[in-house]
Amino acid sequence: MNLMTLTVGLLGEHLENSLSPLIHRNFICHYSLNYCYLPFQIKTENLEKAIYGAKALGIQGLNVTIPFKEKSMLFMDNIDPAAEKIRAINTIVRKNEKLYGYNTDWNGFKEPLKKEMDIKLIDKRAVVLGAGGAARSVVFALAEERCPVISIFNRSKDRASEVKRNFHNIFPQCEIRTFSFRRKYLQEEIDNADLLINTTPLGSWYFPGQNPLPEEIKLPSKAIVYDLIYYPDRTPLLRWAEINGNRILNGKEMLIYQAAESFYLWTGIYPDQEIITKILSKINKMEN
Ligand code: NAP
Repeated sequence: MNLMTLTVGLLGEHLENSLSPLIHRNFICHYSLNYCYLPFQIKTENLEKAIYGAKALGIQGLNVTIPFKEKSMLFMDNIDPAAEKIRAINTIVRKNEKLYGYNTDWNGFKEPLKKEMDIKLIDKRAVVLGAGGAARSVVFALAEERCPVISIFNRSKDRASEVKRNFHNIFPQCEIRTFSFRRKYLQEEIDNADLLINTTPLGSWYFPGQNPLPEEIKLPSKAIVYDLIYYPDRTPLLRWAEINGNRILNGKEMLIYQAAESFYLWTGIYPDQEIITKILSKINKMEN
């Protein structure tokens, strides 16, 4: 019998509002594992020391969040091929004294569409708002699932073009279009979209009340509107889409499904649907 508690945790700069400790502690408790999940709030300049320190201390695994998802890759011994393509990691696993970097955001993004909304992504056209780290995971997931057209709108078009360059050779069958936020193109692309995904922080607690889309834009009712933001529950974009009759999804499910895969990478257990639903309802109650 091994009585030693294994430690996993979260590395980030601002963790006061993070739901990851709550999610992982519920997984740990549900499976009665001798693990503990701790938040490690660190300054950017201490990232390297923190990762090597965690390795030296025998910490079993870490989640990595904003702003460390790209920079942490520098300190890994091995990087999973999907994470390599997305160019970001959010999960570190320690195996045989080596650090392995993974990205579970892309699976976390697509699982709720399949499991909670019964949507198959193949042949669906998507509009993605934003071109940062989260957008790269989203575009990777959509292209992997064989979406034929992905239109990326971003404040700076150069960053959108960079995402296109990143994935163009990996997914030659997928047409990736890039735009700055010009109303005419937005309306044209949204009119043809099955999925509209917001990956910008507009509408989150940092940008309360803001909608990434101009008021004049009309949403086709067939489009599913997915906002990666998980607090508030209904961003202005989701409220507007809901009133318009669109099916909507916020970022809470993505958060739980990416956590479930990290948990699997550390423990070998993929949390069952019962505990996922239970945590989701716990989080929803906390907010109300
Ligand atoms: P990021 O790398 O900083 O990218 C942010 C993106 O939003 C960039 O494209 C940026 O455009 C755009 N943006 C930022 N401020 C803007 C503004 N005032 N007006 C217009 N565009 C603006 O951040 P990220 O890691 O991709 O995260 C983005 C969001 O996704 C955050 O709200 C985060 O919480 C959420 N997220 C959720 C989950 C989940 O599990 N639910 C997972 C990951 C991320 P520029 O390129 O022009 O700067």
